[in-house]
Amino acid sequence: MKDTEKALNCPACGKEMKKVWLDEKGFFVDICTDGCGGVWLDNRELEKIDESDENADRILQELGGKIFAQTDKTKERICPLCGVKLVKYIYSDEVEPVEIDVCYTCGGKFLDNNELKTIRSQYEEKEDKVDDALSTSRFKAKGLTGMVKIFQKMTNKSLSYLKY
Ligand SMILES: [Zn+2]
Ligand SMILES: [Zn+2]
Repeated sequence: MKDTEKALNCPACGKEMKKVWLDEKGFFVDICTDGCGGVWLDNRELEKIDESDENADRILQELGGKIFAQTDKTKERICPLCGVKLVKYIYSDEVEPVEIDVCYTCGGKFLDNNELKTIRSQYEEKEDKVDDALSTSRFKAKGLTGMVKIFQKMTNKSLSYLKY
C-alpha cells in the first residue's frame, strides 16, 4: 500500500483532492471535493469498499448533497501518482456496467462522482438476484460458469452457498 502524504490533483478536473482518512479501513482516499466529486483509490482499496455492507460513510458524507462540476469522460486522464495514462476498465458488468479509470502501473483507480454509489448498489441488487435465483431452476440453466461469475464478486457469506 502506498498512501502518499502529498495532495493529489484530480485526474478528471485537475483540482486538488482532499485526503480523507478511513479509520476503520486504515487508509486514505482522495476525494475531489472542490471539483468533480471523483474519488481516487490506491491499489486494492476499492475492493474494500465496493460492497454495500462495507463502511464507506466517510466518502459518501464528503460527496453527499453537493453539486459537482461535470467532467468529460472521453478526455485523457493521467495517473496522479505515476503520470501514465489511465485505462478505461469495466468494473462490473452484471447489472449496470461502470466504466472506471485504472492505472496499470500502480493499480490506482479513479471513480467519477456517483460511480462508487452505483457499484455499491449493484452488489445489493445482485445479492437479491442470487437469492431469488437459488430458489428456481433458472439458476441451474446458467451452468457452472455463470454461477462462478455471479459468485466471483460476492461476499464470503454468499460464497458458502457454493458448498450446497
Ligand atoms: Zn475532479
Ligand atoms: Zn499510477
